[in-house]
Amino acid sequence: MELSRRLQQLPPYHFAAYARKIAEKRAEGVDVISLSMGDPDLPTPPEVLDALDAAARQPINQRYPEYAGMAALREATAAWFARRFGVELDPAREILPVIGSKEGLAHLPLAVMDEGDVALMPNPQYPVYPTAVALAGGACYDLPLDATAGWLPDLDAIPTDVAARAKTLWLNYPNNPTGACAPHAFFERAVRFAHDHDVLLVHDMAYAEVTFEGARPPSILEIPDARAVAVEFHSLSKAYNMAGFRVGMLVGNATIVEGMTRLKSNIDTGIFRPLQIAAARALELPQSWLDARNAIYQRRRDALVAACRALGMQVEVPQAGLYLWPRIPAGQASTDFALNLLERTGVAVTPGTNFGSGGEGYVRISLTVPDAQLDEAVARMSSVIGAGRA
Ligand code: PLP
Repeated sequence: MELSRRLQQLPPYHFAAYARKIAEKRAEGVDVISLSMGDPDLPTPPEVLDALDAAARQPINQRYPEYAGMAALREATAAWFARRFGVELDPAREILPVIGSKEGLAHLPLAVMDEGDVALMPNPQYPVYPTAVALAGGACYDLPLDATAGWLPDLDAIPTDVAARAKTLWLNYPNNPTGACAPHAFFERAVRFAHDHDVLLVHDMAYAEVTFEGARPPSILEIPDARAVAVEFHSLSKAYNMAGFRVGMLVGNATIVEGMTRLKSNIDTGIFRPLQIAAARALELPQSWLDARNAIYQRRRDALVAACRALGMQVEVPQAGLYLWPRIPAGQASTDFALNLLERTGVAVTPGTNFGSGGEGYVRISLTVPDAQLDEAVARMSSVIGAGRA
């Protein structure tokens, strides 16, 4: 049996390949500490689990869910958006629950891009974006992200003929993998660019609520007129330690929300209602819950930053997100560095190139392991990197 040409061209998902490598090591008896995926280890809030449990016992909730998502979740999202960003959304026309933001991001190009259309694509980037564009028959034009420019793309450097063919511009702040946040002024510039070139802005805000020192990253929809040209993805996964629930939301431009509802109703049948009810409950949690949870990540961030620096690696202190993005010692390929580290210490970090060629020279280290394991990982890394042997 032959797979489709479309699938044959698709690279294997880096994280799946890397997870296999980690599984092999574990099968060999190695005690692997994985700082590779951003998979929150902290528990889902008990209020959310209670809501899930009660809802699951209601026979009505065991039936097919509605295609456009439950009104209760769309309304809870609108109330959260107004509280968090000061932006009013119409729950009926501007919000669509998705099966985790990954699913929504992966399907979006099918709703908005035709064969040969151009996607303006940051590099490095969350790998789902270029894959989704390729599956829809689109082509990516790289926008390099650079530390010296705050990991923001230079929209003025995009040639006019490329801008004319562009259909989508992908942005992600707080950024994975770099941890950068975008200032309001950058979003103003991006919205102007989108208006000028008739481009849809696709902003991924999966890390909106994992922030440090009280940072409050803005939504792109705070910019006046943004909803004419922009959609934004949100996710419960990292925000409320609910990665396994698979609940996210697409918000913004009503035409795109309607198009995605039409597309998805032909592909899937929504999210188990109890998960939507639990997600709506999570969105009502007070800021104090987020602050307490973020304080745990902040302690881990500080411990890892100190360790990386002690080992001679350059690293910025991120204001948000679940990762550090240190530079690896000069002259090494990031894949070699990560594989070598795994081999010698049993510590798994993600090679920067998993996020595109722009990630060369970096690795991504996740904060989502308990403190004791994190300390152990640091100790093991010190034993080889400190001696310049990783
Ligand atoms: N966007 C970014 C930047 C991510 O890093 C991730 C997951 O790691 C996602 C989206 C997908 O999150 P989910 O599908 O769990 O909502």
